[in-house]
Amino acid sequence: MIRVNGKQKQNGTRDKDNKGAALLCLGIESTAHTFGCSVVEMYQDSERKGKVLSDIRGIYKPPEGSGIHPREASRHHAEVCSSVLAQSLKEAGRRMDDIDIIGYSAGPGLGPCLRVGAVVARTVSGFYEKPLVPVNHALGHIELGTMLTGASDPLVLLVSGGHTMILAFAQHRWRVFGETLDITIGQLLDQFGRAMGFASPCGGRIENLAGQSDGRYTQLPYVVKGNDVSFSGLLTAAIRAASSGEKLVDVCYSLQETSFAMLAETVERALSFTSKKEMMIVGGVAANKRLASMLDIACTRQDAKLYVCPIGFAGDNGAQIAWTALLDYAATKKQIDVEKSSVHQSWRLDVVDVGWR
Ligand code: AMP
Ligand code: MG
Repeated sequence: MIRVNGKQKQNGTRDKDNKGAALLCLGIESTAHTFGCSVVEMYQDSERKGKVLSDIRGIYKPPEGSGIHPREASRHHAEVCSSVLAQSLKEAGRRMDDIDIIGYSAGPGLGPCLRVGAVVARTVSGFYEKPLVPVNHALGHIELGTMLTGASDPLVLLVSGGHTMILAFAQHRWRVFGETLDITIGQLLDQFGRAMGFASPCGGRIENLAGQSDGRYTQLPYVVKGNDVSFSGLLTAAIRAASSGEKLVDVCYSLQETSFAMLAETVERALSFTSKKEMMIVGGVAANKRLASMLDIACTRQDAKLYVCPIGFAGDNGAQIAWTALLDYAATKKQIDVEKSSVHQSWRLDVVDVGWR
Protein backbone atom coordinates (compact mmCIF):
# COMPACT_ATOMS: atom_id res chain seq x y z
CA MET A 1 0.00 0.00 0.00
CA ILE A 2 1.19 3.46 -0.80
CA ARG A 3 0.68 6.52 1.35
CA VAL A 4 0.92 9.50 -0.94
CA ASN A 5 0.72 13.25 -0.78
CA GLY A 6 1.48 13.45 2.92
CA LYS A 7 2.20 17.18 2.55
CA GLN A 8 -1.37 17.77 1.45
CA LYS A 9 -2.51 16.36 4.74
CA GLN A 10 -0.35 18.80 6.63
CA ASN A 11 -1.84 21.72 4.69
CA GLY A 12 -5.35 20.37 4.74
CA THR A 13 -5.82 19.21 8.32
CA ARG A 14 -8.30 21.49 10.04
CA ASP A 15 -8.74 22.16 13.71
CA LYS A 16 -10.79 19.36 15.21
CA ASP A 17 -13.11 21.89 16.90
CA ASN A 18 -13.94 23.39 13.49
CA LYS A 19 -15.39 20.10 12.22
CA GLY A 20 -18.88 21.35 11.37
CA ALA A 21 -17.64 24.05 8.98
CA ALA A 22 -17.19 21.92 5.88
CA LEU A 23 -18.85 19.16 3.91
CA LEU A 24 -16.69 16.03 4.06
CA CYS A 25 -16.61 13.31 1.41
CA LEU A 26 -14.98 9.91 1.32
CA GLY A 27 -14.06 9.21 -2.33
CA ILE A 28 -13.43 5.69 -3.61
CA GLU A 29 -11.55 5.07 -6.86
CA SER A 30 -11.21 1.63 -8.45
CA THR A 31 -11.46 1.91 -12.25
CA ALA A 32 -8.24 0.06 -13.11
CA HIS A 33 -4.88 -0.47 -11.36
CA THR A 34 -5.55 1.76 -8.35
CA PHE A 35 -7.77 1.23 -5.34
CA GLY A 36 -7.79 4.64 -3.70
CA CYS A 37 -9.62 6.23 -0.79
CA SER A 38 -9.45 9.91 0.01
CA VAL A 39 -11.16 12.31 2.38
CA VAL A 40 -11.76 15.77 0.90
CA GLU A 41 -13.49 18.74 2.48
CA MET A 42 -15.41 21.54 0.80
CA TYR A 43 -15.73 24.84 2.61
CA GLN A 44 -19.25 26.00 3.11
CA ASP A 45 -18.41 29.67 2.63
CA SER A 46 -17.28 29.06 -0.96
CA GLU A 47 -18.53 25.94 -2.66
CA ARG A 48 -15.64 25.86 -5.10
CA LYS A 49 -12.86 25.66 -2.51
CA GLY A 50 -11.67 22.47 -0.94
CA LYS A 51 -8.77 20.57 0.53
CA VAL A 52 -7.50 17.04 0.28
CA LEU A 53 -7.16 15.66 3.82
CA SER A 54 -5.93 12.20 2.85
CA ASP A 55 -5.01 10.23 -0.24
CA ILE A 56 -4.17 6.55 0.21
CA ARG A 57 -3.71 4.19 -2.74
CA GLY A 58 -3.13 0.49 -3.18
CA ILE A 59 -1.76 -0.09 -6.69
CA TYR A 60 -1.94 -3.40 -8.54
CA LYS A 61 1.38 -4.15 -10.27
CA PRO A 62 1.26 -6.70 -13.07
CA PRO A 63 4.32 -8.87 -13.69
CA GLU A 64 7.05 -7.29 -15.91
CA GLY A 65 6.10 -7.36 -19.58
CA SER A 66 2.38 -7.99 -18.79
CA GLY A 67 -0.60 -5.68 -18.89
CA ILE A 68 -3.30 -5.23 -16.29
CA HIS A 69 -5.36 -8.39 -15.79
CA PRO A 70 -8.86 -7.26 -14.71
CA ARG A 71 -9.55 -10.30 -12.50
CA GLU A 72 -6.15 -10.13 -10.80
CA ALA A 73 -6.48 -6.36 -10.31
CA SER A 74 -9.93 -6.79 -8.76
CA ARG A 75 -8.58 -9.51 -6.46
CA HIS A 76 -5.85 -7.07 -5.40
CA HIS A 77 -8.45 -4.36 -4.73
CA ALA A 78 -10.58 -6.73 -2.65
CA GLU A 79 -7.50 -7.60 -0.58
CA VAL A 80 -6.41 -4.01 0.13
CA CYS A 81 -9.75 -2.17 0.27
CA SER A 82 -10.40 -2.31 4.00
CA SER A 83 -6.87 -1.26 4.99
CA VAL A 84 -6.80 1.55 2.37
CA LEU A 85 -10.13 2.84 3.70
CA ALA A 86 -8.97 2.67 7.35
CA GLN A 87 -5.66 4.39 6.51
CA SER A 88 -7.43 7.12 4.62
CA LEU A 89 -9.69 7.99 7.56
CA LYS A 90 -6.72 7.85 9.95
CA GLU A 91 -4.60 10.11 7.74
CA ALA A 92 -7.47 12.62 7.59
CA GLY A 93 -8.00 12.44 11.35
CA ARG A 94 -11.67 11.55 10.81
CA ARG A 95 -14.06 8.68 11.64
CA MET A 96 -16.85 7.38 9.42
CA ASP A 97 -19.36 9.28 11.56
CA ASP A 98 -17.69 12.58 10.53
CA ILE A 99 -18.14 11.85 6.80
CA ASP A 100 -21.13 13.52 5.11
CA ILE A 101 -21.24 11.76 1.74
CA ILE A 102 -19.66 8.79 -0.09
CA GLY A 103 -18.47 9.22 -3.70
CA TYR A 104 -17.45 6.28 -5.88
CA SER A 105 -16.10 5.81 -9.38
CA ALA A 106 -19.04 4.38 -11.33
CA GLY A 107 -17.18 4.19 -14.68
CA PRO A 108 -15.74 4.08 -17.22
CA GLY A 109 -13.29 1.34 -16.33
CA LEU A 110 -12.72 -2.38 -15.94
CA GLY A 111 -15.90 -4.11 -14.73
CA PRO A 112 -14.34 -6.37 -12.07
CA CYS A 113 -12.34 -3.46 -10.62
CA LEU A 114 -15.26 -1.02 -10.67
CA ARG A 115 -17.42 -3.53 -8.84
CA VAL A 116 -15.03 -3.77 -5.88
CA GLY A 117 -15.14 0.00 -5.34
CA ALA A 118 -18.91 0.06 -5.76
CA VAL A 119 -19.41 -2.74 -3.22
CA VAL A 120 -17.24 -0.93 -0.65
CA ALA A 121 -19.09 2.35 -1.31
CA ARG A 122 -22.54 0.72 -1.02
CA THR A 123 -21.54 -1.06 2.17
CA VAL A 124 -20.33 2.02 4.04
CA SER A 125 -23.13 4.16 2.62
CA GLY A 126 -25.78 1.65 3.72
CA PHE A 127 -24.31 0.87 7.12
CA TYR A 128 -23.55 4.46 8.14
CA GLU A 129 -26.58 5.94 6.31
CA LYS A 130 -24.59 8.39 4.21
CA PRO A 131 -25.70 9.69 0.78
CA LEU A 132 -24.09 7.78 -2.10
CA VAL A 133 -22.92 9.76 -5.16
CA PRO A 134 -21.75 8.04 -8.36
CA VAL A 135 -18.93 9.86 -10.19
CA ASN A 136 -17.69 9.67 -13.78
CA HIS A 137 -13.97 8.96 -13.48
CA ALA A 138 -12.95 11.22 -16.39
CA LEU A 139 -14.91 14.09 -14.88
CA GLY A 140 -13.02 13.42 -11.64
CA HIS A 141 -9.68 14.02 -13.38
CA ILE A 142 -10.95 17.34 -14.74
CA GLU A 143 -12.62 18.67 -11.59
CA LEU A 144 -9.69 17.87 -9.31
CA GLY A 145 -7.37 19.42 -11.93
CA THR A 146 -9.31 22.69 -11.92
CA MET A 147 -9.47 22.71 -8.11
CA LEU A 148 -5.71 22.22 -7.78
CA THR A 149 -4.55 24.48 -10.63
CA GLY A 150 -7.12 27.27 -10.33
CA ALA A 151 -8.11 27.03 -14.01
CA SER A 152 -11.72 28.15 -14.46
CA ASP A 153 -12.85 27.48 -18.04
CA PRO A 154 -10.05 25.53 -19.74
CA LEU A 155 -9.76 23.52 -22.89
CA VAL A 156 -8.81 20.13 -21.41
CA LEU A 157 -6.45 17.46 -22.68
CA LEU A 158 -7.28 14.26 -20.78
CA VAL A 159 -4.43 11.82 -21.33
CA SER A 160 -4.33 8.61 -19.33
CA GLY A 161 -4.44 4.84 -19.54
CA GLY A 162 -8.15 4.98 -20.40
CA HIS A 163 -8.53 8.30 -22.24
CA THR A 164 -7.14 10.54 -24.94
CA MET A 165 -9.64 13.37 -25.35
CA ILE A 166 -9.70 17.10 -26.01
CA LEU A 167 -12.68 18.66 -24.25
CA ALA A 168 -14.32 22.03 -23.68
CA PHE A 169 -17.33 22.84 -21.54
CA ALA A 170 -20.47 24.17 -23.23
CA GLN A 171 -24.15 24.03 -22.29
CA HIS A 172 -23.92 21.77 -19.23
CA ARG A 173 -21.63 19.15 -20.71
CA TRP A 174 -18.00 18.54 -21.61
CA ARG A 175 -17.92 18.44 -25.43
CA VAL A 176 -15.32 16.46 -27.36
CA PHE A 177 -13.09 18.40 -29.77
CA GLY A 178 -10.87 15.46 -30.65
CA GLU A 179 -10.06 12.00 -29.37
CA THR A 180 -8.24 8.81 -30.23
CA LEU A 181 -9.71 6.59 -32.90
CA ASP A 182 -8.07 3.47 -31.47
CA ILE A 183 -5.72 3.08 -28.47
CA THR A 184 -5.09 5.82 -25.90
CA ILE A 185 -1.76 7.60 -25.44
CA GLY A 186 -1.30 5.69 -22.15
CA GLN A 187 -1.88 2.38 -23.94
CA LEU A 188 0.59 3.42 -26.66
CA LEU A 189 3.33 4.07 -24.10
CA ASP A 190 2.50 1.07 -21.90
CA GLN A 191 2.16 -1.42 -24.78
CA PHE A 192 5.42 -0.21 -26.33
CA GLY A 193 7.15 -0.42 -22.96
CA ARG A 194 5.82 -3.90 -22.27
CA ALA A 195 7.03 -5.07 -25.70
CA MET A 196 10.46 -3.86 -24.53
CA GLY A 197 10.06 -5.91 -21.32
CA PHE A 198 9.39 -2.97 -18.98
CA ALA A 199 7.04 -3.20 -16.03
CA SER A 200 3.71 -1.41 -16.52
CA PRO A 201 2.98 1.52 -16.30
CA CYS A 202 5.85 2.49 -18.61
CA GLY A 203 5.37 6.21 -19.40
CA GLY A 204 7.86 7.44 -16.80
CA ARG A 205 10.59 5.05 -17.95
CA ILE A 206 10.05 5.97 -21.61
CA GLU A 207 10.32 9.67 -20.71
CA ASN A 208 13.55 8.97 -18.88
CA LEU A 209 15.03 7.00 -21.82
CA ALA A 210 13.90 9.64 -24.32
CA GLY A 211 15.80 12.22 -22.28
CA GLN A 212 19.01 10.22 -22.80
CA SER A 213 18.73 10.36 -26.61
CA ASP A 214 20.89 12.87 -28.47
CA GLY A 215 17.84 13.74 -30.57
CA ARG A 216 18.23 11.29 -33.47
CA TYR A 217 14.69 11.11 -34.88
CA THR A 218 13.45 7.84 -36.40
CA GLN A 219 10.63 8.37 -38.88
CA LEU A 220 7.34 7.05 -37.41
CA PRO A 221 3.74 7.34 -38.66
CA TYR A 222 2.05 10.62 -37.73
CA VAL A 223 -1.71 10.11 -38.01
CA VAL A 224 -4.18 12.97 -37.47
CA LYS A 225 -7.62 12.60 -39.07
CA GLY A 226 -9.77 15.70 -38.80
CA ASN A 227 -9.06 16.59 -35.18
CA ASP A 228 -8.74 12.97 -34.03
CA VAL A 229 -5.56 10.96 -33.58
CA SER A 230 -4.65 7.32 -34.22
CA PHE A 231 -1.80 5.62 -32.39
CA SER A 232 -2.02 1.94 -33.35
CA GLY A 233 0.19 2.20 -36.49
CA LEU A 234 2.69 4.26 -34.50
CA LEU A 235 2.85 1.50 -31.87
CA THR A 236 3.55 -1.21 -34.47
CA ALA A 237 6.19 0.93 -36.22
CA ALA A 238 7.95 1.84 -32.95
CA ILE A 239 8.15 -1.81 -31.84
CA ARG A 240 9.46 -2.74 -35.30
CA ALA A 241 12.09 0.04 -35.17
CA ALA A 242 13.32 -1.09 -31.75
CA SER A 243 13.42 -4.74 -32.85
CA SER A 244 15.37 -3.90 -36.00
CA GLY A 245 18.32 -2.49 -34.10
CA GLU A 246 17.50 1.23 -33.67
CA LYS A 247 18.84 2.48 -30.33
CA LEU A 248 16.08 2.19 -27.70
CA VAL A 249 16.67 5.74 -26.42
CA ASP A 250 16.19 7.11 -29.96
CA VAL A 251 12.99 5.10 -30.49
CA CYS A 252 11.63 6.35 -27.14
CA TYR A 253 12.53 9.91 -28.15
CA SER A 254 10.88 9.51 -31.58
CA LEU A 255 7.80 7.88 -30.08
CA GLN A 256 7.30 10.80 -27.70
CA GLU A 257 8.04 13.46 -30.33
CA THR A 258 5.59 11.94 -32.83
CA SER A 259 2.69 11.19 -30.48
CA PHE A 260 3.01 14.43 -28.52
CA ALA A 261 3.23 16.50 -31.75
CA MET A 262 -0.06 14.88 -32.85
CA LEU A 263 -1.62 15.97 -29.55
CA ALA A 264 -0.11 19.47 -29.77
CA GLU A 265 -1.49 19.94 -33.29
CA THR A 266 -5.02 18.88 -32.34
CA VAL A 267 -4.98 20.86 -29.09
CA GLU A 268 -3.83 23.99 -30.93
CA ARG A 269 -6.59 23.61 -33.52
CA ALA A 270 -9.17 23.22 -30.74
CA LEU A 271 -7.78 26.28 -28.92
CA SER A 272 -8.02 28.32 -32.08
CA PHE A 273 -11.59 27.10 -32.75
CA THR A 274 -12.94 27.59 -29.22
CA SER A 275 -10.92 30.76 -28.41
CA LYS A 276 -10.35 29.39 -24.88
CA LYS A 277 -7.70 31.32 -23.00
CA GLU A 278 -6.85 28.47 -20.62
CA MET A 279 -5.60 24.97 -21.38
CA MET A 280 -5.24 22.20 -18.80
CA ILE A 281 -3.59 18.76 -19.01
CA VAL A 282 -4.91 16.04 -16.70
CA GLY A 283 -4.51 12.24 -16.42
CA GLY A 284 -1.43 10.14 -15.74
CA VAL A 285 0.42 11.25 -18.90
CA ALA A 286 0.19 14.88 -17.66
CA ALA A 287 3.26 13.95 -15.57
CA ASN A 288 5.37 14.08 -18.77
CA LYS A 289 7.54 17.23 -18.97
CA ARG A 290 8.11 17.01 -22.71
CA LEU A 291 4.38 16.88 -23.41
CA ALA A 292 3.86 19.98 -21.24
CA SER A 293 6.65 21.87 -22.99
CA MET A 294 5.23 21.10 -26.45
CA LEU A 295 1.74 22.17 -25.39
CA ASP A 296 3.18 25.32 -23.85
CA ILE A 297 4.42 26.36 -27.30
CA ALA A 298 0.95 25.79 -28.78
CA CYS A 299 -0.65 27.76 -25.92
CA THR A 300 1.75 30.69 -26.34
CA ARG A 301 0.89 30.87 -30.04
CA GLN A 302 -2.84 30.90 -29.19
CA ASP A 303 -2.45 33.37 -26.33
CA ALA A 304 -3.66 30.80 -23.76
CA LYS A 305 -2.31 29.94 -20.31
CA LEU A 306 -1.21 26.36 -19.68
CA TYR A 307 -2.17 24.57 -16.44
CA VAL A 308 -0.74 21.15 -15.62
CA CYS A 309 -2.30 18.94 -12.96
CA PRO A 310 0.27 18.52 -10.14
CA ILE A 311 2.20 15.29 -10.69
CA GLY A 312 1.07 13.73 -7.39
CA PHE A 313 -2.57 13.93 -8.50
CA ALA A 314 -2.17 13.35 -12.26
CA GLY A 315 -2.85 9.59 -11.99
CA ASP A 316 -5.94 7.86 -10.60
CA ASN A 317 -6.81 8.68 -6.98
CA GLY A 318 -9.74 8.88 -4.56
CA ALA A 319 -9.47 12.68 -4.23
CA GLN A 320 -10.71 13.23 -7.79
CA ILE A 321 -13.79 11.19 -6.97
CA ALA A 322 -14.40 12.82 -3.58
CA TRP A 323 -14.07 16.37 -4.93
CA THR A 324 -16.41 15.73 -7.88
CA ALA A 325 -18.98 14.07 -5.63
CA LEU A 326 -18.84 17.15 -3.35
CA LEU A 327 -19.40 19.53 -6.27
CA ASP A 328 -22.31 17.44 -7.52
CA TYR A 329 -23.95 16.96 -4.13
CA ALA A 330 -23.52 20.58 -3.02
CA ALA A 331 -25.15 21.84 -6.24
CA THR A 332 -27.87 19.26 -6.87
CA LYS A 333 -28.31 17.26 -3.61
CA LYS A 334 -28.59 14.27 -5.96
CA GLN A 335 -27.78 10.86 -4.50
CA ILE A 336 -28.45 7.33 -5.65
CA ASP A 337 -30.32 4.55 -3.85
CA VAL A 338 -27.96 1.79 -2.79
CA GLU A 339 -30.20 -0.76 -4.57
CA LYS A 340 -30.03 1.22 -7.83
CA SER A 341 -26.32 2.02 -7.74
CA SER A 342 -24.43 0.30 -10.52
CA VAL A 343 -21.25 0.61 -12.58
CA HIS A 344 -20.92 1.42 -16.29
CA GLN A 345 -17.78 0.16 -18.01
CA SER A 346 -18.23 2.46 -21.04
CA TRP A 347 -19.70 5.59 -19.45
CA ARG A 348 -18.64 8.40 -21.78
CA LEU A 349 -17.97 11.80 -20.29
CA ASP A 350 -19.88 13.66 -23.01
CA VAL A 351 -23.23 12.18 -21.87
CA VAL A 352 -22.85 13.38 -18.28
CA ASP A 353 -24.93 16.44 -17.30
CA VAL A 354 -22.89 18.75 -15.08
CA GLY A 355 -25.11 20.71 -12.72
CA TRP A 356 -22.50 22.89 -11.03
CA ARG A 357 -20.73 24.73 -13.90
P1 AMP B 1 -4.03 7.03 -15.22
O1 AMP B 1 -4.81 6.06 -16.06
O2 AMP B 1 -4.62 8.41 -15.20
O3 AMP B 1 -3.70 6.54 -13.84
O4 AMP B 1 -2.61 7.21 -15.95
C1 AMP B 1 -1.74 6.12 -16.14
C2 AMP B 1 -0.92 6.35 -17.41
O5 AMP B 1 -0.02 7.44 -17.24
C3 AMP B 1 -0.08 5.13 -17.78
O6 AMP B 1 -0.31 4.82 -19.14
C4 AMP B 1 1.35 5.62 -17.55
O7 AMP B 1 2.30 5.01 -18.41
C5 AMP B 1 1.23 7.10 -17.84
N1 AMP B 1 2.31 7.91 -17.26
C6 AMP B 1 2.66 8.00 -15.96
N2 AMP B 1 3.76 8.80 -15.83
C7 AMP B 1 4.09 9.21 -17.09
C8 AMP B 1 5.13 10.03 -17.64
N3 AMP B 1 6.06 10.62 -16.87
N4 AMP B 1 5.15 10.21 -18.99
C9 AMP B 1 4.22 9.64 -19.78
N5 AMP B 1 3.22 8.86 -19.32
C10 AMP B 1 3.15 8.64 -17.99
MG1 MG C 1 -7.64 7.80 -14.99
